[in-house]
Amino acid sequence: MKALYFTGDSIVGLSETDVPSPGKGEVVLQMKASGVCGSDLKNFRAPKSEKEALGDLKVPGHEPVGIVSELGEGVTNVSVGDRIMMHHYTGCLQCSMCLIGYTQMCLVHHEVYGSTAHGGHQEYMLVPAYTCIPMPDELDFAAAAACSCGTGTAFQAVKRIQPTGLDTVAIFGQGPVGLSATMFAAQMGARVIAVDISPYRLRLAEELGADEVINSSDTNVEEAIREITGGEGADSTLDATGIPEVRIQAVDSAKYWGKVCFVGEGNTTTFDVSPQIIHKQLTILGSWTFSQAGLAEVAKFVVERKSPMDKLITHKYDLGRAQEAYETFISGETGKVILEI
Ligand SMILES: [Zn+2]
Ligand SMILES: [Zn+2]
Repeated sequence: MKALYFTGDSIVGLSETDVPSPGKGEVVLQMKASGVCGSDLKNFRAPKSEKEALGDLKVPGHEPVGIVSELGEGVTNVSVGDRIMMHHYTGCLQCSMCLIGYTQMCLVHHEVYGSTAHGGHQEYMLVPAYTCIPMPDELDFAAAAACSCGTGTAFQAVKRIQPTGLDTVAIFGQGPVGLSATMFAAQMGARVIAVDISPYRLRLAEELGADEVINSSDTNVEEAIREITGGEGADSTLDATGIPEVRIQAVDSAKYWGKVCFVGEGNTTTFDVSPQIIHKQLTILGSWTFSQAGLAEVAKFVVERKSPMDKLITHKYDLGRAQEAYETFISGETGKVILEI
């Protein structure tokens, strides 16, 4: 079978390897789709020397979706032929975080598939049976892959700010996570302001339900948001960029008593806490991916509310064109990019 690796310096390579066999409690998935996520890019761009020093490369791809092709000993929760989304983490299954389905927050030890363990960019993938979440029949493989990290992360983050039909929500950054957040906040009834520097992505945000769009490369965002909200600021803001200046804009664009949700990772950001946070009575939230139940929940919502995933997913490539997939994604002129296998 074919398996993809990041060989360093933004190059992907395909290798021939054996189809894995399942051990006790494991299953083999015949992969159908695997998403390209912004959090892969650090690994994709890592220098060749760093990769060579590592020696043992892991298959990337942490949005794995496929069909169960073989069961290991003692597996009873899934059957051969089941359509599966993988919750891409292991945990001890005993601690308080594992017991609520957040194995990525395991207090003992966790692995991340596509990073510390082999991920979804291959033809067959070995996974623990407990990570398998059944897919609704109505969901296609590409949409399920999106749900398995980026879109699921956005869903959970939007749920954390609990928007109602009375609220205006400003979403900073319209990459795949921000676009998904725009789509869900609009479907949950909020008036959505989408912020980005890319005209392509702002157009996509409008198609996905944004009521107002702001290009922050040529507009003062805080002023524009205050203008749209009668001088008050947004009820909630969400940062999907991780860029310090944008996080500050997200905080400064929230109204008094508003909520701010940080989703974009990395970087250090400095706030003047009294004027920017305390005296505004803000609620600041961090939101990191989702639980096993959360993955089933976003898939159910997408099906029941007919979320426009076909608009969100703008590019699909087969495994052999993964180089092109990553380069196109980096160009910024995409929504969600999916590898079909
Ligand atoms: Zn645990
Ligand atoms: Zn991801």
